[in-house]
Amino acid sequence: MRIDPLPYEHLLDARPLSQVDLVVVHCTELPDLATAREYGERVLYPASGTGNSGHWYVDRDGHVERWVDPARTAHHVRGFNPRSVGIELVNRGRWPDWLDSRRQTMDEPYPDAQVEALIGLLRTLRDELPALRWIAGHEDLDTEQVAASDDATLQVQRKRDPGPMFPWQRVLAATPLQRLV
Ligand SMILES: [Zn+2]
Repeated sequence: MRIDPLPYEHLLDARPLSQVDLVVVHCTELPDLATAREYGERVLYPASGTGNSGHWYVDRDGHVERWVDPARTAHHVRGFNPRSVGIELVNRGRWPDWLDSRRQTMDEPYPDAQVEALIGLLRTLRDELPALRWIAGHEDLDTEQVAASDDATLQVQRKRDPGPMFPWQRVLAATPLQRLV
């Protein structure tokens, strides 16, 4: 695993690892890891100098990078950040028309190498994070609907990741974590 901290990592809130009982699975909804890095480095909260990102990123070929220390709270899921860590899987999702009502299908599969790397990472996290017990998808925790970008009279899910292609049964069978929702 490559450790490559985001420039603002040290500005994120510090926390005890015993506070982390939840891991949230995301997909980037971007074309590749380099683009995800650009988005992750963007400062979206000028008061703190920080932005949105997961803690770990898993590329399609199974390459894993850590961008935020789990002893820091990253901004990756509304309402659950202080108790959770986030893992982002590189996958196009609905990119580039995330909220277009005609483009809501998420049909890119998660390759074996990527799923196996995720399972391996989850197993190491069980050792690193003593209170870790729960796993959830971003779509399970943020169910807000928003106006579609192509037609404001229609509603779409703000978050759909990791989406219908994510192999929940395989991942749950391979780890002792329980699905939160
Ligand atoms: Zn997400």
